[in-house]
Amino acid sequence: MLVAACSSSGLSTAPGTSGAPITATVPGPGQSGGVGGSATTLPGAATAPEQTPGTNAPLPTRPPWLGQRTLPTDSDGDAPPQTTPPELADRRFATVDLLAPPTDGQFQATVGPLEGDPLRRSTWSEGCPVEVVDLRYLTLGFWGFDGLPHTGEMIVNVGVTDDVVAVFQTLFEARYPIEEMRITTQAEVDAPPIGDGNNTSAFVCRAAVGSSRFSEHAYGLAVDINPFINPYVKGDVVLPELATVYADRENVRPGMIVDDDEVVAAFDAVGWGWGGRWRSLKDYQHFALNDR
Ligand SMILES: [Zn+2]
Repeated sequence: MLVAACSSSGLSTAPGTSGAPITATVPGPGQSGGVGGSATTLPGAATAPEQTPGTNAPLPTRPPWLGQRTLPTDSDGDAPPQTTPPELADRRFATVDLLAPPTDGQFQATVGPLEGDPLRRSTWSEGCPVEVVDLRYLTLGFWGFDGLPHTGEMIVNVGVTDDVVAVFQTLFEARYPIEEMRITTQAEVDAPPIGDGNNTSAFVCRAAVGSSRFSEHAYGLAVDINPFINPYVKGDVVLPELATVYADRENVRPGMIVDDDEVVAAFDAVGWGWGGRWRSLKDYQHFALNDR
């Protein structure tokens, strides 16, 4: 059974919060990640320019049904290929802040243990192939399609924290736009397909697409970036299901990852593989330490 899109993300707002900020329960930049947490602030080299490239055009309006509509499925729970709704064909939505954004325009990152509220919101359970003590809770600065700096959260394997922080510092300084960056929840993984998620995420305790073995995401060793804009494509299968318009990689639109761009180069620099270079299928959102 096809378990989920590579992103495993269907929701576009923090589940269960109705858009309410979770800042109060999640450590922000410069705060302690909890007992034993070591917060590190990394000064970015870039200074904030006056204007962000590509932000002169008005941002499309986020449709009210985003993340709310379940797709029709077959007996396996899979949804057939879908036509991209016109509202999502040029996807450049403003970011909804879940954590306090950086105030000085500089890249900031924190690294702490995975515990407390972030652990409860995560997909980790006893059956996962990685121990909680081998995961880390990160907060990372990123730029939105709205031309503003934001703070995201991500869970990764302890062995790749330096790699991931280095990559997102590079993306921040390049002003590569990201719509949303937060922990993937079990509710999202278990939900029927919605097909419009665009959450940038790493650790998800689930099987690989079309397989019974664990995904590299289940070890915290893979990152998906803007998955709607950079879908998984294998034959007629496109995941997320509504992202078919982004299966066309010749028409390069904002946020699309193409070979040798700043995103691929940043992961190349830390030795990670890119699913956009695979032969049998293309997983344009997917970067992994072990290139699988
Ligand atoms: Zn992936």
